Amino acid sequence: MTTTPYWIAGRPATGTDVLEVRSPFDGALAGRTTNATAEDVEAAVSAAHDARAACAATPAHVRAAALDHVSHRLAERAEEIAALITAESGKPLKWARSEAARAVSTFRWGAEEARRWSGTLQRLDTDPAASGRMALVRRAPRGPVLGIAPFNFPLNLVAHKVAPAIAVGAPIVLKPAPATPLSALLLGEILAETDLPAGSWSVLPVPNEVAAQLVRDPRLPVVSFTGSVPVGWSIRESAPRKHVTLELGGNAAAVVAPDQDDAALDWAATRIATFAMYQAGQSCVSVQRVFAHRDIAAGLTDRVVEAVGKLVTGDPTDSATDVGPLIDEQAARRVESWVDEAVAAGGRLLAGGTRDGASYAPTVLADVPADVKVSCEEVFGPVVVLDTVDSLDEAFTRVNDSRFGLQAGVFTRDLQVAFRAAQVLDVGGVVIGDVPSFRADQMPYGGVKDSGTGREGVHAAMEDLTEERVLVLTGI
Ligand code: NAD
Repeated sequence: MTTTPYWIAGRPATGTDVLEVRSPFDGALAGRTTNATAEDVEAAVSAAHDARAACAATPAHVRAAALDHVSHRLAERAEEIAALITAESGKPLKWARSEAARAVSTFRWGAEEARRWSGTLQRLDTDPAASGRMALVRRAPRGPVLGIAPFNFPLNLVAHKVAPAIAVGAPIVLKPAPATPLSALLLGEILAETDLPAGSWSVLPVPNEVAAQLVRDPRLPVVSFTGSVPVGWSIRESAPRKHVTLELGGNAAAVVAPDQDDAALDWAATRIATFAMYQAGQSCVSVQRVFAHRDIAAGLTDRVVEAVGKLVTGDPTDSATDVGPLIDEQAARRVESWVDEAVAAGGRLLAGGTRDGASYAPTVLADVPADVKVSCEEVFGPVVVLDTVDSLDEAFTRVNDSRFGLQAGVFTRDLQVAFRAAQVLDVGGVVIGDVPSFRADQMPYGGVKDSGTGREGVHAAMEDLTEERVLVLTGI
């Protein structure tokens, strides 16, 4: 097997510190790469710093064409890419295919937004002192971006860093997750086919200590981080003068209203089961907590347990598989200990609760106290906790009784309930009629409270990576 190069200022390079990437399911070798050498890390950062003017001066049509090219090439290579995502992360092939398709769309949106990206003209003569003046307001890149990505969407969350940076003309140094660098490196191969300015992009696998140094490097004034809550907030503390975007974790909730008839409950249960167990629960908006109104709670519980029982678990390379392994055995052991804790505290195990290596069976719990970890922390595993409430107000209070706030889902047909949910739920996004896990890549996405700060979603990220610059014109 060849060693996959990393990318320094758009050129391939190889170091000596070998990273073997293995499937968490069976340990099969997915690929081999190397951590970037100290010299190459320095070359990538200084190239990003030096490329600021060239990037900003690159015409929109060149940036858009580069983004379109990446989108088309990802589409052409989608099957190969999906297989690679599965091989390195253990994500079931069906979900890896969906991730590859989403990355195609993320870059396509980047191209479209790059063409639309413009400024505004503001009149100033509303104030007598400013008569005869007007302002041109445009958004300029805050500077080169350090993008840090997690393992759970090794391509599409990398795309969410890279596409907006290219679209606004900001150089980017991208650091993929150590467990899953190969998809990001393949993206580098495609980026190398474009006409983007030399130095404008690098993809560097580096150990976390080196990533922490990059966070403090003043030549990378913007840090766009997606990952866990403790690492995210520690980054913010270690770089107080930088513009830091944090897309972190949560314990997302779904509320099921009493207005749900049998057909609606079937839909809600299927969606809850699927998106509690999707990616073995390793999604920041995985359904972890469910608050069902007492009138429909028993019917919902039966349906969720039945739907979970139908999920196909096992080999992620089999396209029939719904639920594969967690990222490693240590993660599965942690989930096991949290479920054991919940059961010891009086929780009822309605499904699952068993572990085999890195795989943990899709697990449904009920009657779990609110203060045990599966309720109040981020499980990041295939576990859902069902709870019964007497009113929707109680449900909304319980959703908000969390230190996290990414998204919430509300299954209701009542428009007033929908608006009330949007008003009272303290989260970055409310999804009516579906699980909190719904995300379209062009919509603003991000959290409140411990779940983060700033927004992604291609356009929202472009705003986040830029700041307003004003040109005042006098005598007109
Ligand atoms: P993680 O925090 O362990 O790692 C994320 C990235 O940070 C990796 O690339 C890692 O190498 C790097 N890193 C670790 N320590 C660092 C340091 N000191 N300085 C700089 N970089 C450092 O997270 P993970 O396990 O890869 O991902 C899972 C977490 O990500 C979950 O909490 C999940 O909810 C969250 N997540 C959030 C979103 C979102 O959009 N809000 C999306 C996906 C995942």
